[in-house]
Amino acid sequence: MTDSRVFVFRARAFAAAALVLMAAAAAAQQAAPPAGPAASKRAWPLTRPEATNFTETSRYDEVVAFMKAMAAASPRIHLTTYGYTFEGRPLPLAVIGAPGATPEQVLGTGKTRIFIQGNIHAGEVEGKEAALWLLRSIAKGERTAWFQQVVLLVNPIYNADGNERVSVRNRGSQFGPIGGMGQRANAENLDLNRDNTKLETAEARSLARLLTQYDPHIAIDLHTTNGSDRASRASCAATCCRR
Ligand SMILES: [Zn+2]
Repeated sequence: MTDSRVFVFRARAFAAAALVLMAAAAAAQQAAPPAGPAASKRAWPLTRPEATNFTETSRYDEVVAFMKAMAAASPRIHLTTYGYTFEGRPLPLAVIGAPGATPEQVLGTGKTRIFIQGNIHAGEVEGKEAALWLLRSIAKGERTAWFQQVVLLVNPIYNADGNERVSVRNRGSQFGPIGGMGQRANAENLDLNRDNTKLETAEARSLARLLTQYDPHIAIDLHTTNGSDRASRASCAATCCRR
């Protein structure tokens, strides 16, 4: 992957997020109801924040277990891994909209490929939890129409090592989760969001491999704006990209 590819990946993230969220909202309005009484009565697993009144955030093992549960519940969801963290945690990837999870199977569909990444800064937990929520929604059959034209590639937890270093002090100015959150940097104290060119970290090299092999048209990198009421940087980026 060239440096320009990395730049495009980062520069497009906010604008792409806005586009996909708009598409998600539109699709949600058109979403079909759950498929019959059996589906409606099923006890779907909760994410850790849902189970703790949003006071705690999911740990790595919980994220992986939730992804496996969704893959077990839906033949539409395929799981694989695409590399490792510095501490050796496999980086999980859910693939939806293709017959399997390999790059060949994804590219063979000819569909638009959208990569969604959460938790590059592991104190910014919303993207991670929202990605799990999305996988559960897909497992329920609520997003079926999307996959006529799209393949989703979803990793909720990119900075998995940083995610496990939970402390209430990691983002002291952030409004929750009050049970603590992971740290910004990875286990080597390197910021993965500053390593898309040098590729010093195992995580960034794994990501570069994923982007090269799956060649997504759109990549969405989910952050949080310190719990602030405004989102000036996101707004600015989206505005700039529209021009
Ligand atoms: Zn961030």
